[in-house]
Amino acid sequence: MDRRTGQSITIIGAGLAGTLLATLLAQRGWQVEVFESRGDPRLHGYAGGRSINLALAERGLHALRQAGADLGVMQQAVMMRGRMVHPLGGEPELQRYGRDDSEVIWSISRGELNIVLIEGAEAAGANLHFDRRLEQVDFDARTLQVRGDGHDETRTFQTLVGADGAGSTLRAQMLRVQDLGERTEWLDHGYKELEIPPGPHGDFRIEANALHIWPRGHYMCIALPNDERTFTVTLFMPHEGPHPSFATVPDGAAALALFQEQFADAVPLIPMLEEDYERNPTGLLGTLYLDQWNLDGRAVLLGDAAHAMVPFHGQGMNCAFEDCVALADHLDSAPDIATAYAGFAQQRMPDAAAIQHMALENYIEMRDRVDDRDYRLQRALELQLQARHPGRFIPHYSMVSFMRIPYSQALARSEVQRGILVRATAGLTTLDRVGWAKLDAEVVALLEPLPTHP
Ligand SMILES: Cc1cc2nc3c(=O)[nH]c(=O)nc-3n(C[C@H](O)[C@H](O)[C@H](O)COP(=O)(O)OP(=O)(O)OC[C@H]3O[C@@H](n4cnc5c(N)ncnc54)[C@H](O)[C@@H]3O)c2cc1C
Repeated sequence: MDRRTGQSITIIGAGLAGTLLATLLAQRGWQVEVFESRGDPRLHGYAGGRSINLALAERGLHALRQAGADLGVMQQAVMMRGRMVHPLGGEPELQRYGRDDSEVIWSISRGELNIVLIEGAEAAGANLHFDRRLEQVDFDARTLQVRGDGHDETRTFQTLVGADGAGSTLRAQMLRVQDLGERTEWLDHGYKELEIPPGPHGDFRIEANALHIWPRGHYMCIALPNDERTFTVTLFMPHEGPHPSFATVPDGAAALALFQEQFADAVPLIPMLEEDYERNPTGLLGTLYLDQWNLDGRAVLLGDAAHAMVPFHGQGMNCAFEDCVALADHLDSAPDIATAYAGFAQQRMPDAAAIQHMALENYIEMRDRVDDRDYRLQRALELQLQARHPGRFIPHYSMVSFMRIPYSQALARSEVQRGILVRATAGLTTLDRVGWAKLDAEVVALLEPLPTHP
């Protein structure tokens, strides 16, 4: 449908959201210009360098399907069936995410994904300008300044979309003319990436089809598989405070000692542990809140530029991709761009806030709860209630990762369900003494069936 032929839109950032949105809008007849500060990763390699991977779930996959980009992406994806939990001193154990292999998530390389999306955007007709960093915007004159190849250029625009990530320059420019209610809550924990290379015969060194977790209370390690048979390991721990924290583990030797003590089974898997620890930066994690995402019809923010979140639900990109579909739909159906931006923000703000909240909560679940007895009993009950009440009692993780109901609805239902699980298992060590009749009645009274379920 070419209803927007002749209308032009300028996107800042050719990262994950910017390229998917460019594809969706170019396919719908918009003239799309995209400015990206980095070089073209097809020519120079991905600027992120090593394989950094992301968990792709149904929400993101659905958005990729809308743009026809899913097949290219899935060729490089590695299935993750569940969490492989590595307890201290015990054997690893797989906790499935869903009921079977139809309920899984996928590990994909950020660089490869970005390249597939860049190619898709160009094939759809978008014009991508690499090595062009947004510097300044004049919203009245509708001009912007980009810097690249050693000089500045001024360009005109009809309307701008900020897909330029958590440190968005467009957001900073909007803040100069309008108070957007911006605030960032930094987590007092950070992260460090390490790598498990392939085994001597070029194979995965540990179970490939799982997201590995080493939960250790106030800190943890995770590892996600890459299609080139490596794993990206991420150590999360506090910046400051009692051991271990980044303050008490200042160098490679201290990191090796921490791993020998706490993640002993991982030590032989990470031959460059000391070098990786010293070479790779310590990442910061935060949640960005805004009261307003758009400047009437002149500019709007999406993805991390609008609502960066901590990574513990693996949903930041998934949420950004949902944003792209929602924005394209509003632009299709609204009478003008200002109405489309306002409608988009009104629809997506409560959902972004819900997943930001769930992402923060999930850190505690991952680092502290997955190997505790209460949690496992509640998880067992959750699965039984799902079987007894299909379409009505749906595990929290399933609502977020395998379904597309709004995040805000998933959060509200999860809170009711958690109450049910906690009350029903209080004082129990097995499910043998659960009072099923009362419990079933409670589920029916407190939870409406969902109109659709997988
Ligand atoms: C450690 C970690 C693990 C994560 N794991 C997951 C996961 O498993 N699953 C998941 O769904 N999400 C995950 N995320 C979140 C995910 O990375 C982000 O939500 C996602 O990248 C957001 O996409 P975006 O396009 O909004 O921003 P980005 O991917 O950051 O893209 C922004 C783009 O804008 C460009 N840019 C920046 N400034 C300018 C400028 N001034 N001019 C022009 N271009 C500019 C950048 O170069 C970049 O290409 C994780 C995040 C972290 C930190």
